[in-house]
Amino acid sequence: MTRIPLPARVRLAQLPTPLETLTRLSAFLGGPEIWIKRDDQTGLGLGGNKTRKLEFLVADALAQECDVLLTAGAAQSNHCRQTAAAAARVGLGCELVLGGAHGELPEGNLLLDTLFGAVVHWTGMDRRGERMEERAGELRREGHKPYLIPYGGSNGVGAAGYVVAMAELVGQLKRSGTRVDRIIVASSSGGTQAGLVLGKKISRFEGEILGISIDKGERAPEPFEDEMCGIANATALRLGLDERCAPGDFRVRYDFLGGGYGVVGPLEREAISVTAAREGILLDPVYTGRAMGALLAMIRGGEIRSAEHILFWHTGGAPALFAYGADLLNAGK
Ligand SMILES: *Cc1c(COP(=O)(O)O)cnc(C)c1O
Repeated sequence: MTRIPLPARVRLAQLPTPLETLTRLSAFLGGPEIWIKRDDQTGLGLGGNKTRKLEFLVADALAQECDVLLTAGAAQSNHCRQTAAAAARVGLGCELVLGGAHGELPEGNLLLDTLFGAVVHWTGMDRRGERMEERAGELRREGHKPYLIPYGGSNGVGAAGYVVAMAELVGQLKRSGTRVDRIIVASSSGGTQAGLVLGKKISRFEGEILGISIDKGERAPEPFEDEMCGIANATALRLGLDERCAPGDFRVRYDFLGGGYGVVGPLEREAISVTAAREGILLDPVYTGRAMGALLAMIRGGEIRSAEHILFWHTGGAPALFAYGADLLNAGK
């Protein structure tokens, strides 16, 4: 019997994503040099960070001969939208278990989920896949073979995308003869930061990686650093790498949670409008708006000095803007 090498990776993203400078934003702040890594431009179905993870998750689903991608998230989940687009691209079914209820307006990401042909199941308050197994069981009884992707695509398979992304960045920095002292990235299910931190060890990136928690407090039942460390080490194992991470390798800020997950406040509103008006770049209301708001606050507070070279990792999410119009324009609140 001939062994057919199974694809380890399905090309879904347009890579490398651009590395640009935000000179007008730096000038406005009288602050440090700010670079931006444009993972909002990964291409698939309006792009974002989940596409890099999906290159490995979809390859695994195809290798296991699954016929449906099953994943979960909030009604405005960027991860679910990119999963639906990936499924359409490779000819798999897609089912989404979403927090919320029937009657959500078909706006932003949710509109796109439907256009990409995904089937949506509403699960009320649960937005982290609490009810995925239940749906998987039903699908199996109907004769399907579902491939379960945890919320955010954050596991040892998906996070490989960000090990690769770190190598991509280090190559770009070398070619442009520049250095980066600190990366700022929005962190939620943790796979992005886990992949970057593992990638840092492998690609010998010298700078710090600072995650801005957009939804988890410092006293979550399982410390977020431990959770990300688990994802990073599962990824290392799967990739056959000898490197291992420790929880102490993960730096996270928990003091920019504002009104909680998905709530736009003055911090997010200002960051989104300044970045749009000064650079022509769209951030998103849930993740990158909050992370950029944190960066502006750290620069203004003197915590980040002018001599530092900062890189803001843009993880995407702009389609959600179209579901937040009133909150974004309501500058009085
Ligand atoms: C999912 C997401 C993140 C967070 O990435 P994790 O890997 O879940 O930590 C950041 N920004 C955007 C726009 C996202 O959709």
